[in-house]
Amino acid sequence: MSAIAWELPDDIRAVRDGLIDFARKEVLPRHADHHDLFEDPRRLYREDGRFSDALRTLIGEVRRASAKAGYYNMCVPESLGGGGLGHLAYYVGWEALFHFCGPKNWLMLYVISHWAFGPSRLLEKVTEEARDKILAPMMAGEASMCFGLSEPGAGSDAAALSTKAVPDGNAWRITGRKIWTSNLPVADYCIVFAVTDPARAAARKGGISAFLVPTSSPGFEVQRIIKLFGHIGGDEAELRLEDVRVEPWQLVSALDQGFAAALYGVSLGRIYNSARAVGYGRWALELALDYAQTRKAFDRPISEYQGVTFPLAESATELHGAHLMGLNAATLLDQGAPAIKELSMAKAYSVQAGYRAVDRAMQTHGAMGFTNEVGLHHAWHALRIINVADGTNEILNRSIVQRLLKGDTEL
Ligand SMILES: Cc1cc2nc3c(=O)[nH]c(=O)nc-3n(C[C@H](O)[C@H](O)[C@H](O)COP(=O)(O)OP(=O)(O)OC[C@H]3O[C@@H](n4cnc5c(N)ncnc54)[C@H](O)[C@@H]3O)c2cc1C
Repeated sequence: MSAIAWELPDDIRAVRDGLIDFARKEVLPRHADHHDLFEDPRRLYREDGRFSDALRTLIGEVRRASAKAGYYNMCVPESLGGGGLGHLAYYVGWEALFHFCGPKNWLMLYVISHWAFGPSRLLEKVTEEARDKILAPMMAGEASMCFGLSEPGAGSDAAALSTKAVPDGNAWRITGRKIWTSNLPVADYCIVFAVTDPARAAARKGGISAFLVPTSSPGFEVQRIIKLFGHIGGDEAELRLEDVRVEPWQLVSALDQGFAAALYGVSLGRIYNSARAVGYGRWALELALDYAQTRKAFDRPISEYQGVTFPLAESATELHGAHLMGLNAATLLDQGAPAIKELSMAKAYSVQAGYRAVDRAMQTHGAMGFTNEVGLHHAWHALRIINVADGTNEILNRSIVQRLLKGDTEL
């Protein structure tokens, strides 16, 4: 039974069902077998806040198994050796995984190559030499990367970045700082965005380039792990680059044209996070519906009280809307439309709908809603964060209104 009036293409439905099957076989059992590890933050993180070796082993196993099964690279262009599926498959695949696995079985995060951590369409413009050097281990799920755009002085206004790549013969030397870089603590490579033409960058007419930098490069230093929401470790970190030498083969797209790659990466992030919000929201709503029918108060199941169930109806309505918006934006991108307005709307609306659905599910559960056992707080934290990551809600509204004022008023 589908709430959606049109069928997804056969190949996308097959991938969605296959991903759920893969998660059932490769993700859920690892969480069950390593329950003690996942429930004990002291075993999940090292003293310095990085992922523990035991956790990294499990992440590597899931990545490699998925690469072998063909899911990890399913949306990587065929020219790079991937499955060549588009944005709709990316949206549907992630939504299915988040919905099916919920936030507790989070090794699912490594089933499909995340655009910032592994191969994606973003790497289509790397040089032949870079392909030879880095692609095979990345496609096999053995190596990973990160995306170094944000800086202490440049967040929403990412083009204001001040990291510089100064010419040095036929090469450049990069100096600067990056912050919030996800996967940096464990990555093998980082896409570093740096100013290569200060005058053009100041005029906001290009002048920013993207370089693929091995994290083992001299002068590349992970300064600290950034811990969020009281955790004792994390996957976001701050980076210092001091005179890091890069050569032309490391350019990710044409010299001075790197900011377009940054914007495309962020668009993939917006699809991913729209899917994450709808998937987690649906997971939480279903949990709340089950609980409301079994939990009794005043001699009746609490599902008999409209004070309990009407908020769940609102969640269902909002998630349905968000789901349709996500499917639509991803389809427009596959049709070659820029879909700036539609993707901004989908992400802004989905993260708020998903967050509200998780919050309402917590309320339905009473005190149980806050327990580690139920795990709603993991989704709550994740969705609170993605109201900021990959474009804050305010910046998304800014993009929407800019399009409207330019006459793009089709809705
Ligand atoms: C968990 C996490 C992971 C991240 N991972 C990465 C990563 O891998 N790589 C990377 O490069 N970055 C990453 N980021 C950074 C992320 O992209 C930025 O946090 C985001 O762009 C916002 O920038 P900021 O935090 O500096 O907020 P600011 O830009 O300082 O904004 C502060 C507030 O002002 C508002 N604001 C700013 N300008 C306007 C305006 N014009 N109109 C209205 N309101 C405005 C914002 O909406 C926000 O509410 C990550 C962030 C998080 C939280």
